[in-house]
Amino acid sequence: MVKCSKCGAENQMEGAYCSNCSVPVVGGQRESLQEAHRSRVRLMVGVILGVLLTGIGLVLALFGADMGMPESQGLGFGLVVVGVIVLVASVILFGWMKR
Ligand SMILES: [Zn+2]
Repeated sequence: MVKCSKCGAENQMEGAYCSNCSVPVVGGQRESLQEAHRSRVRLMVGVILGVLLTGIGLVLALFGADMGMPESQGLGFGLVVVGVIVLVASVILFGWMKR
């Protein structure tokens, strides 16, 4: 559904003109596409950031001691927790919201 920018009436996506006041609703359509795109970009950035943090955290937690950095284990597990939270939060906020 596309909201008319002039009268606020809901219109079908396919219609180029508002069914209520005959104003072109192309602008509103473009706006909602931009909004969907923005939401996808946020979701992607959030997921990539979450996976990256989780990956770095896992490497630090599992191999930190082997690399001569035993103190990095705690930091690694912290990063894993933060990464999973970022991942889940971005999926909930930007992924499921649009459905
Ligand atoms: Zn209208």
